[in-house]
Amino acid sequence: KLLNTSNPEPTKPTFSFEFFVPKTSQGVQNLYDRMDRMYDLNPQFIDITWNAGGRLSTLTNEMVATAQLVLGLETCMHLTCTNMPVSFIDTALQSAYDAGCQNILALRGDPPVDGSESTGDFQYATDLIKHIRKHYGDYFNIGVAAYPEGHPEDDDVDLLITYLKQKYDCGASFIVTQMFYDVEKFIAWCANVRAAGIDIPIIPGIMPISTWGSFMRRAKWCEINIPDYFLEQLEPIQDDDQAVREVGTDLVAEMCRKMVDSGYVNHLHFYTMNLEKATTMVLEKLNLLGPPSLESTPQPESAVSTPST
Ligand code: FAD
Repeated sequence: KLLNTSNPEPTKPTFSFEFFVPKTSQGVQNLYDRMDRMYDLNPQFIDITWNAGGRLSTLTNEMVATAQLVLGLETCMHLTCTNMPVSFIDTALQSAYDAGCQNILALRGDPPVDGSESTGDFQYATDLIKHIRKHYGDYFNIGVAAYPEGHPEDDDVDLLITYLKQKYDCGASFIVTQMFYDVEKFIAWCANVRAAGIDIPIIPGIMPISTWGSFMRRAKWCEINIPDYFLEQLEPIQDDDQAVREVGTDLVAEMCRKMVDSGYVNHLHFYTMNLEKATTMVLEKLNLLGPPSLESTPQPESAVSTPST
């Protein structure tokens, strides 16, 4: 099973890593090597993201199969549903099934960038959840996305919880959140999610801090609040990448501790951006890593291509 909800050590959370599909074959090979090494850190599972349309979506299927069957990693496949024919979705699900992958993050996907109307048979993530449950019963654990600080198309957080409840009612098994740095807001949001009768695991999406530029860019992209104390500590050292990473590690680790102490969280999901270092530093800080494997050999971070967003 994907999630150990009866975690015997609630103060020692389990964790997982998200990887995105690289654009080049060399990037894919480098990522396999990295995934293999990061498996030595003992994540409970890994995620592979989905890029709607084109070669990259087929690559998601291939990477899920390789991660699951060759590398032996418990894998969660992201799958979006707007602007895609049902036959394409069915092929992707069948491919996950054939690879023994039992975890799908069911997403709507973003609307077309040119502002045109979304097309296809599915309008919302709920349509995809219903489709999966109808055709595969309980075979898949189905994760769904949630936005503690609002979605770019809708900043009404309470309304979004109503939509989240619809995803739960359709058969969602767990929730993965958008990245955030405002832990107090997140904890208050968890209370509201529980009050709405949603009792599946809430998995916070955590973006470690690698550089000042990427930290600010991603927070802006996701339209999330950066608490003042983050800015006060990071802004003065913004030109020193090493210092930003060290202070950022302390800040993110402290955030993780607060989430676990709140009692709402016993699993941490890291947006790795296909890089090892910043995530590993946070895990080390939290004392969640066992002794290093003799087989793992550190590689330069630059070997993996950067994401398109
Ligand atoms: P939905 O839950 O369907 O919601 C989409 C919008 O519709 C929301 O604004 C909501 O307010 C509105 N809505 C929902 N239900 C209703 C209703 N019944 N009536 C009226 N309005 C409604 N994108 C990718 O392309 N690939 C990925 O791999 C990927 N991974 C992600 C992982 C995580 C953890 C997260 C948080 C996001 C990810 N995304 C990914 C981005 C995601 O596809 C977008 O945020 C997308 O715009 C919304 O997807 P959703 O599944 O949350 O949609």
